[in-house]
Amino acid sequence: MKVRMIDNRLFRRVVILGSLALLQMIFLTTVSLSVFIAPESTTHTPHTLFAGLAFFTAVTISLGTLSLRYFRGLEKLSLHDGLTALPNRRALLDRFRQSRSDTSETGIALLNLDNFKLINENHGHRTGDEALLAAAHIVRDVCGPEVEIYRLGGDEFALILKGSLSGTLLEGHCRRIVEYLTKPVQIANVQLLMGASIGLASCRGENCSASELLRRADMAMAASKRGGKMRCTWYSASLDRNREEMRRLDDDLRRALTENEFRLVYQPLVSSEDRRVVSVECLLRWDRPAGPIGPHIFIPAAEQSGFINAIGLWVLRQACRDALAWKDITLSVNISAAQLRNPEFPVQLGYILEETGFDADRLELEITETCLVLDPVIAERNLALIRQFGVRIALDDFGTGYASIGFLRQFRFEKLKIDRSLVVQASEDEGSRAMMLSSIAVARAMKMGVTAEGVETEEQAAMVRAAGCDQIQGWLYYRAMPAQEIAQYLTSKANSTTSSDQGIRAA
Ligand code: C2E
Ligand code: MG
Ligand code: MG
Repeated sequence: MKVRMIDNRLFRRVVILGSLALLQMIFLTTVSLSVFIAPESTTHTPHTLFAGLAFFTAVTISLGTLSLRYFRGLEKLSLHDGLTALPNRRALLDRFRQSRSDTSETGIALLNLDNFKLINENHGHRTGDEALLAAAHIVRDVCGPEVEIYRLGGDEFALILKGSLSGTLLEGHCRRIVEYLTKPVQIANVQLLMGASIGLASCRGENCSASELLRRADMAMAASKRGGKMRCTWYSASLDRNREEMRRLDDDLRRALTENEFRLVYQPLVSSEDRRVVSVECLLRWDRPAGPIGPHIFIPAAEQSGFINAIGLWVLRQACRDALAWKDITLSVNISAAQLRNPEFPVQLGYILEETGFDADRLELEITETCLVLDPVIAERNLALIRQFGVRIALDDFGTGYASIGFLRQFRFEKLKIDRSLVVQASEDEGSRAMMLSSIAVARAMKMGVTAEGVETEEQAAMVRAAGCDQIQGWLYYRAMPAQEIAQYLTSKANSTTSSDQGIRAA
């Protein structure tokens, strides 16, 4: 708002300045015409000459003063952000340049709003602007006047504090900001959850270059995002090393598909009633030449680079081909958040179903709540399209994050998979058991199937069976195995007349 006022004032000044310059030109032209072109037709009294000179001087002085103010105003504009009136990146760099000889400690914090993109997409840019203004006010209120606040662009703010213990003091302010922004804020008649991820860095003395400090704070801020957002992280040298590892992992991932380094294994799920295999979950493995690496590491890396889209399609196609011959059982495939957010995904899925001839009724996609929390609008639209093929949706890892019972009502999954951590806790403490029981009761009431994951003991199996789970997955019954072993097992089962309770326990 403040800068819009500066804009208006500058505009008025330009108008006055222009008028005065015009007057001065008219005056000079008249004098020149009268003196040089028709000197005989003009009579100059000392009074008129004196008045003319005085007028000319006054206009020149006003012109000079106004020009000076105008250029100062322009300078001020170039150092401030147009929306929030906070100093901008150029002002921050100037500040560092001016205080080069200052040897005191400098603390810097880079703050990035977690949900700004979504706010813009879901509520429009006007609300996005108001969210930025609200964020700037909150930061100012929490930090007080001693902290310098800059808007570096988009949804990124920098906070600077100088003096002894500035890093520690700044961290305290940042923690309060994060806490404040974890609660929804009322903006333009809507409650918006902005969230903030902050990276902190500090330095002392003359080795404080603005670009290096900003780089460090940026690395730390990215670590806050990776770590789950809504948090503060201090820069450390290990972040640089991790980045190098991530870069190498990214390069290796890029090669892995073309070099056929991925393979699929399948873990059977059994019916809790008679322990019959009713389904298999497809799990991705990567034989990385540099050494083994689990999906919990390479999948998030592939998600970050966007490479998961290509990998995910390979998994789906290969799994549908493998499971084509496994009649009467369901195939579950894990889908990552990035895939579900991709508007092309439903079409690609339809194409794979057609190409492989796999029956859509036998396919189940497992998604985690992250897919839905990140982008509920696109996720809901894509899920509706996927369901039109007849493919079912399961909510994976229930009990590990924010997913609540309200969430189940909103998205209406066909299956709920209770995470291993909740199964383990439920067998150890009453509170977790109550939570597991109530979640299962709600899911059953909403006609969802319920699977307990990671069941390793007979006690856990008895508990989840009694709680109402209709399927059980876990090493107690089966570990994941290659496609050929599943095929052999299903053929031998079909040929045998008796059913074994134990099934096979592949290593
Ligand atoms: P998830 O989908 O929840 O898969 C179940 C995980 O639990 C698997 O780990 C499985 O090996 C493990 N598990 C099963 N039974 C037991 C048990 O009794 N005890 C213990 N301790 N663990 C058990 P895995 O294969 O390491 O996969 C980890 C996660 O990686 C998966 O969790 C899934 O989120 C992700 N993932 C695996 N394959 C894919 C894939 O193709 N695409 C995507 N997007 N994600 C995948
Ligand atoms: Mg899964
Ligand atoms: Mg799971």
